[in-house]
Amino acid sequence: MTGYVCVNCEEEVDIEPIDEKVICPKCSHRVLFKKRPETPSKVEAV
Ligand SMILES: [Zn+2]
Repeated sequence: MTGYVCVNCEEEVDIEPIDEKVICPKCSHRVLFKKRPETPSKVEAV
């Protein structure tokens, strides 16, 4: 389980980052920040 924060509505989302398909359940935004940078993978730099 990985914590993400939506960059659009700032909703905290706990999801499994399967295939890196990370979508906010609240606003359906597709860019979320990883809260815990344990495994540095793809992170959208804004
Ligand atoms: Zn959102």
